[in-house]
Amino acid sequence: MLPERFIERVSCDLGEAEGRALCEALDTPSPVAVRLHPTKVGTACGLLNELSASLPALTFDRPIPWSPQGWYLTERPSFTFDTDFHAGAYYVQEPSSQLVGHLLRNVETRGARILDMCAAPGGKTTLYASMVGADGLVVANEIDRRRAAVLADNVRKWGTGNVAVTVCEPRSLGDCEGWFDVVAVDAPCSGEGMFRKDPDARAEWSEANVHLCARRQDEILREAWRALWPGGTLIYSTCTFNREEDEGSLERMLAWAGDEAEPSDEVPVDAAWGIVCGTVGPFRTYRFYPHRACGEGFFAAVARKAGPAEGIRRNRLSKSKARRSVVASADRQATAEAARWLLEPERMQFVMAADTLYAWYGPQAETVRMLSERVPVIYSGVALGQLFKGRLKPDPALAFCTELNRAALPIAELNAEQALRYLRRQEVEASAFVEGMNLVCARGRALGFAKRIGARVNNLYPASLRIITN
Ligand code: SAM
Repeated sequence: MLPERFIERVSCDLGEAEGRALCEALDTPSPVAVRLHPTKVGTACGLLNELSASLPALTFDRPIPWSPQGWYLTERPSFTFDTDFHAGAYYVQEPSSQLVGHLLRNVETRGARILDMCAAPGGKTTLYASMVGADGLVVANEIDRRRAAVLADNVRKWGTGNVAVTVCEPRSLGDCEGWFDVVAVDAPCSGEGMFRKDPDARAEWSEANVHLCARRQDEILREAWRALWPGGTLIYSTCTFNREEDEGSLERMLAWAGDEAEPSDEVPVDAAWGIVCGTVGPFRTYRFYPHRACGEGFFAAVARKAGPAEGIRRNRLSKSKARRSVVASADRQATAEAARWLLEPERMQFVMAADTLYAWYGPQAETVRMLSERVPVIYSGVALGQLFKGRLKPDPALAFCTELNRAALPIAELNAEQALRYLRRQEVEASAFVEGMNLVCARGRALGFAKRIGARVNNLYPASLRIITN
């Protein structure tokens, strides 16, 4: 049952017929969609038969028109038992939320610094990571420590090596003033757009919570604006329908931001997509209603911070150190060992944090270092592993990384049954492995590492990722 007060409000806001159509749509099944990993699946897989051969567990229906790597599926498969899901070949992502990539199509995102202020579990973070490339950086922040751990797992699995995961209050990132080219606020909200997907969202909804969320959004937007450099782009989004958290949040922000906000370049939106476009001052707004568009309820808005159209971004953070540096440059021996494991090590800088060796892409390495002196960074770049007597014991994250040099170690290609045993951290047959460390693959995609010692195989798949259902 939908909350009474919600039904009353939407029929008042949208008119009786449209309000009823929305409520009826909220009782229909949600579309199922994925976003493909452009490197692991390959953009060449545009043809349906090639795609189906590449990802046989998925039944592709049609592309999502506003998302170049997005596809609707005809049905929901058991993602848990698809090894390609575990290899990070695709992300299961609701179609409406994939719009944020389209909203940035006129923004120079290659090489950009994007701050994803409310990032867990990482749907949009992984989308931005694919957009900024190796020269760019996504700072993915999550205030909730438990959710941040899930975010970090998803970032590892996506394997682009250009994300730093932070756990802090928005204010700490606001203090990185004028530092980001794009700031995305996918705000915590009352979740009305999730009413058909998630029964708990209906049960937890209340008008009091709408007001509470709106106040929280105001605070987050203030910090987001501070973090944005003049000329940069702000994307605000929620998965709720009410004005107070959507247009209202923008209006309250404009009351203090004033002329500092200006319109961003228009992006094409085909009327057939069913998205309701509008404006709030300089913000362009985009609304998904499930009875009009094929996706969940979603609201997004974009504006620019007034400033030069290009180029005077500050490349360095101011030096004020709030925390002690927790990273040290790797020595020559560690660097040489690390280089063996990567396709293009000359693009990387290597650092030690605690006992783990990390690789950071060169252009953003200084940025990540300075970030880690200001806020808690729980994951960054690519965790390569730990060194024992000069040899690397690879971190599970390295298996997922698109930069892994597969010539660095033997590959154990497992069949589906053995691969699922591996993903459950059960024993696997030794016959596919050679003595020592192996890269474990299924259908050619890397899942992790395992070490054969005689007749035994030591399963090194991380406990936090293991399949626990039967
Ligand atoms: N962007 C994510 C994605 O695409 O997968 C979804 C983000 S979800 C809508 C909002 C997130 O904001 C939640 O993970 C929540 O824990 C976090 N959050 C809650 N309160 C917050 C606050 N005061 N400041 C920043 N983030 C907050």
